Amino acid sequence: MQIPAYRGRFAPSPSGPLHFGSLIAALGSYLRARSQQGKWLVRIEDIDPPREVAGASSAILKTLEAYGLFWDETELYQSSRLDAYQARLDALLARGQAYYCQCTRKQIQAMNGSYNGHCASISPPHKEGAIRIHNNLAVERFEDQLLGEIVVDSDFAREDFIIKRRDGLYAYQLAVVMDDAYQGITEVVRGSDLLTSSARQAILFNLFDEAVPQWLHLPLACDKPGHKLSKQNHAPAIDLKAPQASIISALDFLGQPKVDIDAPEIMLAQAILQFRLDAIPKQQEIMLTPAQ
Ligand code: GLU
Ligand code: ZN
Repeated sequence: MQIPAYRGRFAPSPSGPLHFGSLIAALGSYLRARSQQGKWLVRIEDIDPPREVAGASSAILKTLEAYGLFWDETELYQSSRLDAYQARLDALLARGQAYYCQCTRKQIQAMNGSYNGHCASISPPHKEGAIRIHNNLAVERFEDQLLGEIVVDSDFAREDFIIKRRDGLYAYQLAVVMDDAYQGITEVVRGSDLLTSSARQAILFNLFDEAVPQWLHLPLACDKPGHKLSKQNHAPAIDLKAPQASIISALDFLGQPKVDIDAPEIMLAQAILQFRLDAIPKQQEIMLTPAQ
């Protein structure tokens, strides 16, 4: 079998400007792709309008450019893919691989926190509501390229999870898998906050008859345990005018050898040549000191 050429990606949500935590995901996925002569794509995950901040998409792209993180091909906006998501949902419903659910949060809590498939077998079936996948393919373990074998909770692995929300928005799990397949992504590199999501995504790749990509989860930048830097908790934007200092800190965070201070592209070129996967800390969270 021919191994497809490496294709990686960075998939920010436009809920605010890039901060140090998202720079780690951008830089880590970029270095990994470029160190294998691979392509590196950017996808804007803009399918959650209530969480979107006006101007964030273009601010993110401008920041990537200022940091020398130039991507291949044209960036993909998930908002341009809604018809494809709906067509897939229609097909899954028609084949009985998904079903409508109207259970309330309270009902689900009474099921011990994990959905028990209640609406899969009611008669007559619901014709509206959230849409859940019929999960017959439970993935309980997968290999992470950095962390090794990952085992997820078996109730979590077996749950019929949501692929379209009750408010009509397409769920992240559906859109991310359809688009990673659409863009031919061979390896997903991102933060460890999405580690268990990979088990769910593997289920969808299998259900859609698509090749499952490799997974690589980077340590998360946190300000305290269990508390990642995020746009939601107002992590400061990284400085557009002084990329060098942030690049140095991000490389250090990823355990990578030092580079000389220069134009961002030149610093990244050196970082690509020196890239060492095995130097990335194998932990899911790293606390930042205030200076970072
Ligand atoms: N859009 C997601 C986020 O910003 C990342 C999705 C992914 O990398 O799979 O958290
Ligand atoms: Zn239900």
